[in-house]
Amino acid sequence: VDSQQHQLVQKFDLENLGIGGLRAEFGQVFRRAFASRIFPQSFVKKLNVKHAKGVLLYGPPGTGKTLIARKIGEILNCRTPKIVNGPEVFNKFVGGTEENVRKLFAEAEAEQAAKGEQSQLHLIIFDEFDAICKQRGATRDGTGVNDNVVNQLLSKIDGVSSLNNVLLIGMTNRKDLIDEAILRPGRFEVHVEIGLPNEEGRVEIFRIHTKGIRENNVMAADVKLEELAKLTKNYSGAEIEGVVRSAISNTFNRHVDMEHPSETIQHSDVMVTHADFMLAIEEITPAFGQAKDECE
Ligand code: ATP
Repeated sequence: VDSQQHQLVQKFDLENLGIGGLRAEFGQVFRRAFASRIFPQSFVKKLNVKHAKGVLLYGPPGTGKTLIARKIGEILNCRTPKIVNGPEVFNKFVGGTEENVRKLFAEAEAEQAAKGEQSQLHLIIFDEFDAICKQRGATRDGTGVNDNVVNQLLSKIDGVSSLNNVLLIGMTNRKDLIDEAILRPGRFEVHVEIGLPNEEGRVEIFRIHTKGIRENNVMAADVKLEELAKLTKNYSGAEIEGVVRSAISNTFNRHVDMEHPSETIQHSDVMVTHADFMLAIEEITPAFGQAKDECE
């Protein structure tokens, strides 16, 4: 294992990895699922620690589930992850379910057969997992296609030696829709909720997404990330990223006169200001938080 990667993980330097506010969640996924792969100490061997076959990341949209899955893959030096999109793949599966599920695992199985323990890790990420693994018998179309997908996936996951070199990460906004059989121990057994970031997390996320403008010295001194974090309760990471993008575009609009582009002002005067951020926060409202507040 690359020692730099090892150190990175030990410190959980998530800011460097571009993940803000998810230290505990990332640590949980990492330890429970994959640590045995990168901690070669003898006690790990003696304990016979095995990585979980599957991890389910669930929570509202835009909270960093895909980020975590991809970063885990990078840290563990996985093969380029296969990303399976729920609804898309579901259509592809029609008529060829078994063949398609078989194909997903075929490369990993072949490498394991050839190299045994030396096989590289293969990561398969299921986006919108609920669309693939709906509770059996619950589909409305009565084709049984969904049931076939679930059954086929279960048989792959349970398959004898097939999954020692495969990591599965499922992601969903609707854990309640997923067939329970697939969430049992030995299958997608590690469930980690990725919720909306708290204030401290939001500061980290703002720091990550303003890194570029801070390094280029174009963020005004009146911008206080702590203050922005206070004003963005219920915002997801993706929405905070949107706020930063929108603030930058407000700055751009203030400075560039589209009718007289050649009269653009001096570079040294261009700054993303607190007012640019305030306008951006007004423009972007948190989808999930708002809905929740209305229910309360
Ligand atoms: P969905 O359920 O809609 O697929 P998701 O939880 O998988 O959403 P991501 O795709 O990981 O969300 O996040 C979208 C983008 O939002 C990321 O590429 C990243 O730029 C930003 N983002 C989300 N969460 C964080 C975070 N905790 N730290 C930094 N950036 C974040």
